Amino acid sequence: MSDQPHPTRPLTPATVAVTAGRPPREPDEPLNVPITMASTYVAGGDLEYGRYGNPSWTAFEDVLGGLEGGRCLSFASGMAAVGCVLDLVGQGAKVVLPRHAYLGSVMALADLEARGRLVGELVDIEDTDAVVAACEGAALVWIETPTNPALEVADVETITRAAHAAGAYVVVDNTFATPLLQRPLEHGVDIVLHSATKYLAGHSDLLLGAVVTRDEELHGVLQGRRSLTGSVPGAFETWLALRGLRTLHLRVERAQANAEVLVERLRAHRAVAEVRYPGFGGIVAMVLDNALAADLLCRSTSLWVHATSLGGVESTFERRRRWKTEAATIPEGLVRLSVGIEDVEDLWVDLAAALDAIAALPGGTA
Ligand code: PLP
Repeated sequence: MSDQPHPTRPLTPATVAVTAGRPPREPDEPLNVPITMASTYVAGGDLEYGRYGNPSWTAFEDVLGGLEGGRCLSFASGMAAVGCVLDLVGQGAKVVLPRHAYLGSVMALADLEARGRLVGELVDIEDTDAVVAACEGAALVWIETPTNPALEVADVETITRAAHAAGAYVVVDNTFATPLLQRPLEHGVDIVLHSATKYLAGHSDLLLGAVVTRDEELHGVLQGRRSLTGSVPGAFETWLALRGLRTLHLRVERAQANAEVLVERLRAHRAVAEVRYPGFGGIVAMVLDNALAADLLCRSTSLWVHATSLGGVESTFERRRRWKTEAATIPEGLVRLSVGIEDVEDLWVDLAAALDAIAALPGGTA
């Protein structure tokens, strides 16, 4: 960690992002932790073997842990982290999960349920009373807020209280908000989970996952599982992700500012039936009349890239129901936008031209 200039005043996230996870300030030490490519280490130290630890992981984990306010463990992907957290609970345990959580998380739980390992209960995460009722008898309550791609927002504090009263762990998938916009550990949740593939790394060039917890015992259990399952990240991925993390605050601020402008204009566009935006962050969902219109949009832009995933510097969008496994309650014409950090006027001109053309189609796209 960096030197603490004013011990009475905690460092702001922007400063943590830039200064944490650095080597000691000694003559000839590099400013950044170098990539350590090693499957094994000379015996007798703390690391011993490449599956147990790596200095490049630790540097990334120190920064993300500092931002979330807990201890971090990095994983090979977001889904590797999801699998490890689902594995925390015993045979036949009940897991509560948002109906519109990330498709992979819903599918992972469904797969475990089909094999008799867990019992899942899908909930509308915005219906706090229903979620609180579902906590009864649960061992794990999964919150994703905002959800992907419906952008529903959960009442984390109330759900966490009910889950803890029922003796359940609470995990929050914080991928969309990032620790800059939401710090769930401060609301008492047990584990924060990230697809670091998205905003944290931020450049659409790697896969990485992470969990953060304040509970030392839980940290130890998750670390043990990571070693046993081998769901460990690559040294290069964590090094690159840390490089991305250094500018997280700038990227999130710009993406959010761009999103706010686009949301206002999209709401006024006649080709757009509905715009969903939780009021923060860079992810927006807009609903066009039908799948045809949404597919046409995704083929008609030159700056916006039709691609899955999100949270990179570049603006991307996707019709989510093109995935056969996406929830049937997500509208066919819903396009999820991941607003990047380009010039917002350039983004709007590109998007508006495609939407204008759709609105002008004779007889529409119905
Ligand atoms: N959680 C959320 C909210 C996601 O959007 C994703 C991926 O899109 C994941 C988890 C899974 O992460 P990964 O793709 O890094 O395995």
